[in-house]
Amino acid sequence: MADDQAKSILVVGGGMSGLTAAVEAAEVGRNVVLVEKNPYLGGRVAQLHQYFPKLCPPACGLEINFRRVRESDRIGVYTLTEVESISGSEGDFEVTLKVNPRYVNDNCTACGKCAEAVETTIPNPFNFGMDQIKAAYLPYTMAYPLRYVIDPSIAGTDEGKKAAEACAYGAVDLDQRPETVTLNVGSIVWAAGWDPYDAAQLDNYGFGAYPNVITNVMMERLAAADGPTGGQIVRPGDGAVPGSVAFVQCAGSRDENHLAYCSGICCLASMKQATYVREQLPDTQAFIFFIDIRAQDRLEEFYETAKLDAKLKFVKSKIALITEDPATGGLILEGEDTQSGQQIRQTVDLVVLATGMVPTTSRARVPADLSYDDYGFISVDSGVAGIVGAGCVKRPNDVSSSVQDATAAAMKALVSAGR
Ligand SMILES: Cc1cc2nc3c(=O)[nH]c(=O)nc-3n(C[C@H](O)[C@H](O)[C@H](O)COP(=O)(O)OP(=O)(O)OC[C@H]3O[C@@H](n4cnc5c(N)ncnc54)[C@H](O)[C@@H]3O)c2cc1C
Repeated sequence: MADDQAKSILVVGGGMSGLTAAVEAAEVGRNVVLVEKNPYLGGRVAQLHQYFPKLCPPACGLEINFRRVRESDRIGVYTLTEVESISGSEGDFEVTLKVNPRYVNDNCTACGKCAEAVETTIPNPFNFGMDQIKAAYLPYTMAYPLRYVIDPSIAGTDEGKKAAEACAYGAVDLDQRPETVTLNVGSIVWAAGWDPYDAAQLDNYGFGAYPNVITNVMMERLAAADGPTGGQIVRPGDGAVPGSVAFVQCAGSRDENHLAYCSGICCLASMKQATYVREQLPDTQAFIFFIDIRAQDRLEEFYETAKLDAKLKFVKSKIALITEDPATGGLILEGEDTQSGQQIRQTVDLVVLATGMVPTTSRARVPADLSYDDYGFISVDSGVAGIVGAGCVKRPNDVSSSVQDATAAAMKALVSAGR
C-alpha cells in the first residue's frame, strides 16, 4: 500500500545490507533515497568470485536486487555520494549529501568508445590494484548503474577531451562539478559495511614486500573470470601456477595489537577459496593454518566436506613469520603446530592472508552522535532515535545474516519515519 504522506527513508551504503533495506522499505510503499560512495551498487559482494553457502556467483543475489531497484519508482539512487551532515531528530532529519562528478551522464550506453580513446591508465580499484584499467572505465562487468566513469585525474586534460570526442551520445560531461543536495527524511539506515584489515600492518607476514603474499579479498578477484588474470589462479610475482598455496588464518584477528575480535567469516572464506584452488589446480597442495576453525550452523557441513579433500591439509597452528626465498619467490612459513608441539617450517608458492573485517565507521563516523563499540561497530542501540545500523557496520557477518539484519533495520526505519 502506498504511503505518500510519510517521510522518506535514507539508506547509506549500497551493498547487500543497504540494497535489502532500500527494497524492503520501498516495496511496502515508502520512498527511499539510497546513497553509495562508489560509482556502483553491490558493495563487497560484487567483488567475490563465488559466495557460500551455495557457491553461486554474486550475480545471483545482486541481479535480483538491482532489478528491484530498477523497477521501483520509490527508490532514488545517488552514486559517488557521501553524507556530509545530519541535523534534526527522528521523523524529521535534514541531511546534506555531497555528490561527486562521474563526468558521464545518463546518455551512456556503456559502448566503451571513451575507454578506447583514452591512453592513461590507473590501478583498478575493483581488483585491489592488481591490474590497470583505462582512466575511462566501467567499474565491473555487471555494474549497476551500467555507466562508465571518467577518473578525476583526466577530467580537465586532453585525455578527458578525447573521451568526450569519442562519445557519439554526448554522454561524457567534463563540466560536472561536485554538488550539494539537501534532503528531508524521517529516518536513516546506515549500512556502510566493512573494509579489509590493512595487511601491511602485519610486519611479520611480508605483505607488500613479497608479491606472492596476497590477502583473502585479493584471492576472490584472482579467481574471478572478470578479475586481473581472467580467473587464472597464478602468482602475482611471476604469473606462475602455484604448486602449493597456504591460507594463514587470523591474520591480525584475535590479536590485541591488530583486531582483537574474530570476524567469524574468514575460516569459511579460506575453505571456499581452497575449493577455488583445488578445482582449478587439481595437483596443487593447499594448507589452512588455523588457530581454531569457526564454521557455525549449517556451514559446519562445508567444513566437513573440505576435510575430505586429501590435498587440503588443516594444520592447527600459529604462524609467526613469513619470509621469501628470493631465488624462487616462494614463501617460508614458520610457527608452531599447536597440536603436536612441533615447529613448522613449510615452503609454499603462494600465501593468502585471511584478514578480518573492519567496520567503515571505525575510520569514518556517522555525522551524528551515535554509540559505537570499542572497535567502531555501530551499537545495536545506536543511541540516536531514528538512525539505525544494518549489516557489517554493526558486526562482521555473512550475507544471509546481513540481509536479515537489514530487513529488521528497514522495519525500524519505517516505524521511525512515521507520519
Ligand atoms: C574474504 C571474504 C569472503 C567472503 N565471502 C563470503 C561468502 O562467500 N558468503 C557470504 O555470505 N559472505 C561472505 N563474506 C562476507 C560478505 O562480504 C558480507 O556479508 C557483505 O559484504 C555484507 O554486506 P554489507 O552491505 O553489510 O557491507 P558491504 O558489502 O561492505 O557494503 C557496504 C557498502 O557501503 C558503501 N559505503 C561505505 N562507506 C560509505 C559511506 N560513507 N557513504 C556511502 N556509502 C558507503 C560501500 O562502498 C559498499 O558499497 C566474505 C567476507 C570476506 C572478508
